Amino acid sequence: MPIYEYHCETCGKNFEFLTFGSEKPKCEFCNSQQINRLISTCGFVSKGKAGEVTRQSASASSCSGCSSTSCGSCSA
Ligand SMILES: [Zn+2]
Repeated sequence: MPIYEYHCETCGKNFEFLTFGSEKPKCEFCNSQQINRLISTCGFVSKGKAGEVTRQSASASSCSGCSSTSCGSCSA
């Protein structure tokens, strides 16, 4: 199941949202739907069903090399 990181335009916070089916994500802090998806969330690749990527990183929301989204292995 895909999890994406979002940035809320309304309150300025970042949060992760687990998408079930076509459920529309909204800010978990202020319920705003004025949000942007952050593409390069570590450990999850947002192109199609990345089964192998999901499996190796299922227990963590970041890659093994860093805790942010900017290292070399994050952008693979
Ligand atoms: Zn918000």
